[in-house]
Amino acid sequence: MAGPRIVVVGVGTMGSAACAHLAQRGAQVIGLERFTIGHEFGSHGGQSRAFRLAYYEHPDYVPLLKRSRDLWLSLNERTARPIYQPVGGVYLAAPGADFVRLAHAAAVEHGLDVELLDAADVRDRFPIFRVPEDWIALVERPAGFVVPEWAIEAHAQIARQHGAQLRDGVQVHGWSANGAGVQVDTTEGSIEADGLVLTAGVWSRELAQVEGLGIRPSRQVLGWVDAPEAAPVDLGQLPVWALELEDTSVLYGFPRMSGLPGPTGFKIARHWPAATINPDDLDRSTHPDDADDFMPHLREFLPGAEGEVRDMRICLYGNSADGHFRTGRHPESDAVVVAAGFSGHGMKFQPVIGEILADLALEGTTPHAIDFISL
Ligand SMILES: Cc1cc2nc3c(=O)[nH]c(=O)nc-3n(C[C@H](O)[C@H](O)[C@H](O)COP(=O)(O)OP(=O)(O)OC[C@H]3O[C@@H](n4cnc5c(N)ncnc54)[C@H](O)[C@@H]3O)c2cc1C
Repeated sequence: MAGPRIVVVGVGTMGSAACAHLAQRGAQVIGLERFTIGHEFGSHGGQSRAFRLAYYEHPDYVPLLKRSRDLWLSLNERTARPIYQPVGGVYLAAPGADFVRLAHAAAVEHGLDVELLDAADVRDRFPIFRVPEDWIALVERPAGFVVPEWAIEAHAQIARQHGAQLRDGVQVHGWSANGAGVQVDTTEGSIEADGLVLTAGVWSRELAQVEGLGIRPSRQVLGWVDAPEAAPVDLGQLPVWALELEDTSVLYGFPRMSGLPGPTGFKIARHWPAATINPDDLDRSTHPDDADDFMPHLREFLPGAEGEVRDMRICLYGNSADGHFRTGRHPESDAVVVAAGFSGHGMKFQPVIGEILADLALEGTTPHAIDFISL
């Protein structure tokens, strides 16, 4: 017997994973994407995303991250592609700063593989950093990064292999629920279905129609710097790294490596919710002063890596009010599931959120503990 017909709106990060999980579980999936599957107008462009388990944001993310890691490892195996690369991670901060303190507490609570370092150890192990004498650091071996372009492509491919119809260039204008299911209105007519999954990223607020779902899009800058050839920042010398600045924003980056999609160079950025913008009316080109977002901090904390800015890209965060995700069944319709508000830290959860969305759409509930990120 054919499974339920489920429409997924937005085949980006979470939507592609939802399509893959739903299709593998027998649903008849229709995925609708307004641009192409994999693009640079939303939240998933830019070659690499940090994967951490020692989560300072909230310890309840850790069980989800453990499941996500297992799913990333099996995706690597299944696709024979290094989509998740566990190259390790190091997080640095002033003593007492939540960034390292809470990450360490989450690691202890959940038995993660971490090690605390003092500034002398940091100098020894990662000589590129110049941090004050009283700073501390946490090293996490299973941390690393994922390649978002490959991750979306892999999930879309699995979905298609299991019969999903993924259509790009189709924009959804609205939807309505009735006793029998949902009607979805698109640029190519309307579609009737048994269920609807809304994964529209920075466009979620208008589409989801959930009261209080105040997702605010922001314009974030990614940079690639020509670090000197001899700087100890290559893969093998430096893991994925992040350090907390005085204003609690986080400067972070990736080891220099080749073989990834997009620009080459030493990639660096700053994690913080920038000013709210309208994603449909946005200057996506970059300007020289965009580099002010990260260059002064690079100069201060990694002076040996300073070089010309080789490339910059713009990517959008979909910020919730408190930086936590918003995932669950729609308060006014059991046939509709929403996932939004990934606030600049959702990519590492892509496969587990896909699994949760499939649980919610097919069973109405999930065994994963998601109350703390509910709608
Ligand atoms: C600069 C930057 C750095 C980041 N770094 C990290 C990191 O290091 N680690 C980490 O874990 N996360 C990171 N993230 C966050 C992560 O990438 C996002 O949380 C994640 O990509 C959000 O996924 P999404 O599915 O909500 O949005 P998206 O991937 O943008 O998907 C939404 C999709 O919906 C489509 N859509 C919207 N409206 C419609 C409509 N009406 N009809 C049809 N289609 C529609 C869009 O075109 C889009 O493809 C970063 C994000 C940015 C921008």
